[in-house]
Amino acid sequence: MKYADLHIHTKFSDGSFTPEQVIEQAQQLGLSCVAITDHDEVAGIGPAIKCASDFDLEVIPGVELSVEIDSNEVHILGYFIDWQQRWFQDKLKTICQVRKTRALTIIERLKAQGINLAPDELLQEAEPGSVGRLHIARMLEKHGFVHSTQEAFNKYIGNGRLCYVKKFKLSPAEAIEMIRRLKGVAVLAHPYHIANSEQLINEFVQLGLRGIEAHYPEHDKATSEYYQNLAQKHGLLITGGSDYHGLGKAGAQMGDVKIPYDLVEQLKKEAESIRSGQAKK
Ligand code: AMP
Ligand code: ZN
Ligand code: FE
Ligand code: FE
Repeated sequence: MKYADLHIHTKFSDGSFTPEQVIEQAQQLGLSCVAITDHDEVAGIGPAIKCASDFDLEVIPGVELSVEIDSNEVHILGYFIDWQQRWFQDKLKTICQVRKTRALTIIERLKAQGINLAPDELLQEAEPGSVGRLHIARMLEKHGFVHSTQEAFNKYIGNGRLCYVKKFKLSPAEAIEMIRRLKGVAVLAHPYHIANSEQLINEFVQLGLRGIEAHYPEHDKATSEYYQNLAQKHGLLITGGSDYHGLGKAGAQMGDVKIPYDLVEQLKKEAESIRSGQAKK
């Protein structure tokens, strides 16, 4: 059987490993296919593809975009995107600039709580990719302000906590349209996060959503089946992955969630029909 892990972060966002290290790990795990899905960044894709060409390993170019809906955050994955498009890279640059300002605001808020983190150290940690809260959580742990990154989120920077600051506001329509323009397949990430997910999925399908990440570390068997059924009901593809971030984040390891390769083939077929203009929307 061939397996794929379609949700992986690298150092180009808040993963702790380089694309080359990620590919080496995937190779060692015997995976046939991985998708690189950094937050608001695509710079890890090229190096991953280049490195994987030495192995019998396929790399799907991807991205994970954050959107805001009723002041809640929802993540949308884009697969098989034309990631080298100039307009897209410019857009990501703007989003990452806002991420930087936001990270510095979080540091200010932490300061007001008596916690001093050096902004330069943070930016250096995040170099050369998009900076996020997990970088800050790792620093809080490293400097002994918390015992774990999870505690950092629970106490300070998790959604709605004292030092939480919002990010760039993409609407679901904007994000899904961007992925469509890149000839990619838009997939709803980790839907267990979302209250009323069926209603939201209905709305997103109208905007061009084409799949649901039904297989995910936090989805137990019943949850995964629920989303597989929802996907079937709405004519959507089923995807899955570990949301691997490497070190410093409690959670799944690469390959802890893997999907049979025939789901990748279905995803690929959808990408091809989008490319040839024959897709539903
Ligand atoms: P950001 O995009 O900067 O808002 O950071 C989002 C990332 O932080 C997610 O992809 C997770 O890796 C991590 N994260 C967010 N909320 C939590 C949480 N409550 N516990 C642990 N990690 C979290
Ligand atoms: Zn992340
Ligand atoms: Fe996510
Ligand atoms: Fe992720």
